[in-house]
Amino acid sequence: MTDKPTKPATRVVEAGRKREWTSVPGGKGAVVNPPVWRASTHLYEDIADLAGGRPNEDGHFYYGRRGGPTQWALADALTSLEPGADGTELFPSGVAAIACTLLAVLRPGDELLVTDNAYEPTRNIALSMLRQFGITARPFDPLAPDGLANAITDATKAVMLESPGSLTLEVCDIPALASLARERGILSIIDNTWATPLGFPALTHGCDVSVMSLTKHVGGHSDVMMGSASAAKPVINRIRRQAQFMGQVVSPDDASLALRGLRSMQVRLERSTQTALDVARWLDERPEVSAVLCPMLPGAPGHDLWQRDFSGGCGLFSFVLSDGLDVDARARLIDALDLFGIGFSWGGFESLAIPFDPAPVHTLRPWPPGIDTGSGLGVRLSIGLEDAEDLIADLAGGLDAMGAK
Ligand SMILES: *Cc1c(COP(=O)(O)O)cnc(C)c1O
Repeated sequence: MTDKPTKPATRVVEAGRKREWTSVPGGKGAVVNPPVWRASTHLYEDIADLAGGRPNEDGHFYYGRRGGPTQWALADALTSLEPGADGTELFPSGVAAIACTLLAVLRPGDELLVTDNAYEPTRNIALSMLRQFGITARPFDPLAPDGLANAITDATKAVMLESPGSLTLEVCDIPALASLARERGILSIIDNTWATPLGFPALTHGCDVSVMSLTKHVGGHSDVMMGSASAAKPVINRIRRQAQFMGQVVSPDDASLALRGLRSMQVRLERSTQTALDVARWLDERPEVSAVLCPMLPGAPGHDLWQRDFSGGCGLFSFVLSDGLDVDARARLIDALDLFGIGFSWGGFESLAIPFDPAPVHTLRPWPPGIDTGSGLGVRLSIGLEDAEDLIADLAGGLDAMGAK
């Protein structure tokens, strides 16, 4: 561990490996990784100690529901990767992190504005679940010049952002949206799963809360589900309190898996970004493809904003099939792929492909502006760590199979 300022690639290696979590008191030496501390009961020295209570902060033994050193190490690592954050709460999934964060910052009578390009469960939490608590939510168009400004009312207390958007990958001007919210005293929460703080340090771009599904890039191996919310005080304290009310806790075994994934996240992101770009460039030349929705690709929608605001990408992008192709053709394409699994989630070491239709879940603007939406049939790819040429050959086989009826 070093106290010197370091670059993100170094921080993902060093973060969370505090001496007190990797060694025994008074002993010489240490292990590299914080061990898995399985614990429900935490013990007190005596009755006076029990009566004195413990600070409600990571690093203090209290009871298993507040985590132990393994979970604290992961939370500490995520906080140190997110400039501007004072703390991180862990959740058993990304959806749990989103739901609990929204419940923490909103009260009955408040209104939430949710970006129209949001992840579908986020939209459902906002438009359905929050209603039970007397909180209203409305979608706004993040790409319309005054989309957010026009949607704000006196009741608006929070705005839920996501960039690039789920499925359609539109890049939003987050600094402008977050600063507009802040000027009006509105809290901005961003789902930063796609970029992670390595590619987009969201709090330094003006957001108040950065939420991630750790299931994706941090886990990185398709074997663990988890979520996080990072923020400065006092917002992180509100989220922590809400999480504790709701009994949110992650297992030390899962936290250990997430920490293991985190150590290689920077290199995995770099590699999958490069491969995704190779694949995207190739798809862009194909007549069966009317548009490639990949912010890293020069000329693609959102590329200029991505270039301005982001310092990295990832392997997740989409493309649209040309006019004249139908759902059966799309099914033939995906079914013919050998190297791409069919399944939800992304950010694992293995590639995935999934069909999608944004219209039911992005109601104000289903597709990014200015593109040829062709057949209106989307395919989303999560590019893993395989060889780019092999993936391209697999996709070439898929596109050929699409033509053959
Ligand atoms: C997968 C995903 C989530 C939800 O995460 P889970 O860990 O699956 O609950 C949230 N946001 C985005 C953008 C996602 O892709």
